[in-house]
Amino acid sequence: MTRVVDLRSDTITRPTPEMREIMASAVVGDDVFGEDPTVNRLQEKVAKLLGKEKALFVPSGTMANQTAINAHTQPGDEVICEYHSHIFNYEGGAPAMLSGVQLHPVLGKRGIITVEQIQEAVRPADHHYPVTRLIALENTHNRGGGSIFPLDEMKRIYAFAREHGYRVHLDGARLWNASIATGIPLEEYARYADSVAVCLSKGLGAPVGSLVAGDAEFIDKVHRYRKVYGGGMRQAGILAAAGIYAIDNHFERLAEDHRRAKAIAEGIAHLPGVELNPKEVETNIILFTVRSPHYTADAWVERMREKGILMLTMGPDRVRMVTHLHITDEDVDRVIDTFKREWK
Ligand SMILES: *Cc1c(COP(=O)(O)O)cnc(C)c1O
Repeated sequence: MTRVVDLRSDTITRPTPEMREIMASAVVGDDVFGEDPTVNRLQEKVAKLLGKEKALFVPSGTMANQTAINAHTQPGDEVICEYHSHIFNYEGGAPAMLSGVQLHPVLGKRGIITVEQIQEAVRPADHHYPVTRLIALENTHNRGGGSIFPLDEMKRIYAFAREHGYRVHLDGARLWNASIATGIPLEEYARYADSVAVCLSKGLGAPVGSLVAGDAEFIDKVHRYRKVYGGGMRQAGILAAAGIYAIDNHFERLAEDHRRAKAIAEGIAHLPGVELNPKEVETNIILFTVRSPHYTADAWVERMREKGILMLTMGPDRVRMVTHLHITDEDVDRVIDTFKREWK
């Protein structure tokens, strides 16, 4: 049986043997008592990397975003977000269920929205309207094809938000990728948001976990919601140890994932009916439109599956591939060769 090349997501990575060893020997305690030294170490490390007072370890990226949204808002408030954002599309309607807030999605270009669009979306102070409270940005943008939110636009948005008393949350599940791709430190991106969520279980390759970072008062609220949502964990240091290892050993190497994603994009973009601009592949996600008379996105994904290459559809004519820790240069060659052989 030939090796399966799994490009469906960077969440499919399994802990490496070294990571498992670190996990097995992690010093742990009861984190609900605040007594897990490894969780505390991870939280301090991530707070420092993001230049925030505090960070809190939570089980998932969804919980990171949703505890943050709840901590920023009151029921009935409105949250401005991007139309294709994770918060709007992939979190089960949680903002309405858990925080009682309404989302106001604005359509961006590859997930990127401008301060002018936000200025248009905020509500006047009139009893007819909901109260605009929060602006949520995503960097890198998943459905935008791993696009990097430009720092300058983040600065403009944050300045506008500060001036009018709105808060800014950054869904930085893949902020690691943005930072490695641009050379801009995490802390610099985080400066233009009141709160930041980051995932350890995407490109970094840890099995479980995310963190929310912000000022101490905000994190205190997030801590309460983590408890309320059932996300208080006990000897979670086993997971935190994997996170620390992942940051120390798998952060810089994201550049390899980016290089491989670019190589795949450049290797297939010329095929007639593959609509893809390799310049738009900025990080580890390749998103292309299927314009073939022979294949729908589903049919193409199925054809590749038969060849041992896994990818995902994102709608009727869109296909996504994601490079990660387990994808090698040989895999990249095989993906390109298989495209060239099978595509028509
Ligand atoms: C993966 C992801 C999340 C969190 O997802 P979980 O599956 O809950 O960990 C949040 N935002 C973005 C942009 C993501 O890609």
